[in-house]
Amino acid sequence: MRPTATTGPQWLCPVQRFDTKGQGFMLNIDMRKIYNFYAVEPAPDPAALPTGGDLYYECLDCAVIVNSVPHIKSACACGNLAGAGGKLAVMDSTRVKVVKGKLK
Ligand SMILES: [Zn+2]
Repeated sequence: MRPTATTGPQWLCPVQRFDTKGQGFMLNIDMRKIYNFYAVEPAPDPAALPTGGDLYYECLDCAVIVNSVPHIKSACACGNLAGAGGKLAVMDSTRVKVVKGKLK
């Protein structure tokens, strides 16, 4: 009758909690850990932001970085950037800094 390990369920997949609500949040945290980001110079015209697999948009309002062609659901913290399936919607392109991501 010695107590057994019954605390299991609480330890299952802590990441799942984030996936159901703040989409992109976990992703963005990880991005700065695995990528170095460099500003694209000269700064692209906000009216015609370039896209590409190695191009990312940094939201100037919340400082979150989102891929310009997000394959999975991505969004910045304030909602200026949101996308999925290879398309990113930008609410205010003047509040975006285009950066290039390189794996560390
Ligand atoms: Zn934002």
